Amino acid sequence: MKGRKTGEILTKKQGVRYNKTAMKINFDEKMQEIIKNEKNKPKLLLHSCCAPCSSACLERIAKHFQVTVLYYNPNIDDEAEYEKRKSEQIRFLQETGYADVLDCGHEKEKFEEMAKGLEEEPERGKRCYLCYELRLKKTAEVAKARAFDYFCTTLTLSPHKNADWLNEIGYRLEKELGVNYLPSDFKKQGGYLRSIELSNEYGLYRQSFCGCKYSKR
Ligand code: SF4
Repeated sequence: MKGRKTGEILTKKQGVRYNKTAMKINFDEKMQEIIKNEKNKPKLLLHSCCAPCSSACLERIAKHFQVTVLYYNPNIDDEAEYEKRKSEQIRFLQETGYADVLDCGHEKEKFEEMAKGLEEEPERGKRCYLCYELRLKKTAEVAKARAFDYFCTTLTLSPHKNADWLNEIGYRLEKELGVNYLPSDFKKQGGYLRSIELSNEYGLYRQSFCGCKYSKR
């Protein structure tokens, strides 16, 4: 494209529109730029997959935002596992005071519907892309309905997740729904290792599989 280098991003208002020709964008830097320009602790709805992942994310951003955590994970089909992760999430927030928590339904039928025909997909394949989208879309919709200034997800903390996909989805939803997306790559700056340290410090339950039944194989 004339005048536009590969990897360039298209700036608009508070966010960035994802350019499909982009090679590598540092989403952690994008988040830092937004934080630098925000003066009055905006309201952020943070999607969280579990307490361990949320720990290092919240430690980093709680001083810059009024954070509310949305534990929305229809990918977890096992009720006991779902409740265990949820109660650990709530305990961590109660002990640290980093954020409020917003309750929502499990809605596991939404994941089952989405995953039909994608059962054999590998981790980080198409099923995972749609799983990210399912969780981020709900977060963006709730953020919009409740007048949050931004929405974001803890999912970029994990080295097993595709942060480029997550950010691409986030920017697209920002455009579609008209609610600001806070880009992230929480694994940067030692974020993942820090989550292990904090998990040990708070005695958090750390699951050995991603969440859906297909990730147990
Ligand atoms: S492996 Fe994880 S990200 Fe992928 S579909 Fe299952 S729960 Fe979702």
